Amino acid sequence: MSIKALMTQACTGDSTAGQGCIGHNPMDTWVHIVGGGLSGLSLASSLARHQVLPGPVVISEPEPERLTKKTFSFWLTDEEHAILNPEHTHSNWQVSTKKLTTLHTGQRFRYGTRSGKHVLDECQAVISSHPQIHQVKEAIDAAPKADHVFDSRPIAPSSFRLIQSFSGTEVEFQRPHQIEAVGLMNQIEATDSGIRFVYILPLGAKRALIEHTEFTTKLADLSALQSMNRDYLSREFSTNPFQTIRTEAAHIPMGFRSTASHLGIPIGARGGMTRDATGYGYRTIRYACEAIARDLVTNNRATRYHPSLTTQWADTVFLNLIDQRPDSIPEILLTIARRMTADQFAAFMMMRTPSDVFRILWSAPLKPFTCALIGKYQWI
Ligand SMILES: Cc1cc2nc3c(=O)[nH]c(=O)nc-3n(C[C@H](O)[C@H](O)[C@H](O)COP(=O)(O)OP(=O)(O)OC[C@H]3O[C@@H](n4cnc5c(N)ncnc54)[C@H](O)[C@@H]3O)c2cc1C
Repeated sequence: MSIKALMTQACTGDSTAGQGCIGHNPMDTWVHIVGGGLSGLSLASSLARHQVLPGPVVISEPEPERLTKKTFSFWLTDEEHAILNPEHTHSNWQVSTKKLTTLHTGQRFRYGTRSGKHVLDECQAVISSHPQIHQVKEAIDAAPKADHVFDSRPIAPSSFRLIQSFSGTEVEFQRPHQIEAVGLMNQIEATDSGIRFVYILPLGAKRALIEHTEFTTKLADLSALQSMNRDYLSREFSTNPFQTIRTEAAHIPMGFRSTASHLGIPIGARGGMTRDATGYGYRTIRYACEAIARDLVTNNRATRYHPSLTTQWADTVFLNLIDQRPDSIPEILLTIARRMTADQFAAFMMMRTPSDVFRILWSAPLKPFTCALIGKYQWI
């Protein structure tokens, strides 16, 4: 075996051919991850699955419990259970306006959910037992010294292209709630700055998360959205007493208007791993961080994640429509949902391949979509 291969083996714990850690002083920080939220912990836990790393890994996070304030939902196939690790899965989901409802039953895809605490516990179990990974409770605002720096700090809403504002209320009912389908986008309606809908997520027989959400050009009032949750709960479950367990609220990016400066390679929402049109990021973050970790360990190389151009293009059309003609969105979304099978709709929400994007072209109502493509919003 060559000296190079021997060094690679010492660094990676296997005999994979590659650049390994040649040139790295084992006492210096090899990887510094700024931010220990979903992407920071995903990257660190993927690295932690390698017994021997080329050098120390540091994660800087000022508020380690912050992740417990979130619930993550995502689509998955049965084969992906072990990787994406949902606590609950659902086969039924629906999209509705005030007048019409489309119900889907997934065959290949399910809608999975796990709490931020579940993610945190899983990641911590592998990270904290790795002798080369160190977690530091601190905020970092200047580039740290390391061979590879990853930056996952959240970006301020003033840079968002469009905003997803939402307030969620998780409740425990006295009796089973009998919600049989996830309400992905229920009662979609146009507002003067975008669209609003209610998201309904059953979390077991007696628990549910109710979340009023806006896709909007200006920050929505989160306390107003919270009071819509209260009204909804008292109206829809007037005979089933409930207790509030937890609330969550945020403004999350739907694309960025300007490029922020990063302390290293951007990951997570900052690194374009959340979808512009939906705000979903869990699935992409898990897979992209696993790929980054593999490349680091095998090739001592760090590459930035780039979403596919077709997805970016389709999302831009959608965001322009929300911006210019929010009144057209409820019908467009409902038509797309009605014309697609459940699995096609799930694939459209994930947009993993160009064919998922092109299927929208077949399913979207022709006139508003064509007008949006040529930028003639006034013709819709
Ligand atoms: C409430 C909520 C619910 C969501 N639900 C879903 C969902 O259901 N499905 C889905 O796919 N996506 C969801 N998302 C979108 C996305 O997946 C999450 O925002 C995800 O957490 C993004 O990961 P991240 O690592 O980019 O950011 P975060 O998880 O927010 O991590 C960033 C970390 O950086 C830390 N930090 C901040 N400043 C500094 C500093 N100066 N130095 C060091 N660290 C710093 C923060 O404390 C934070 O922990 C949700 C987002 C929110 C806010």
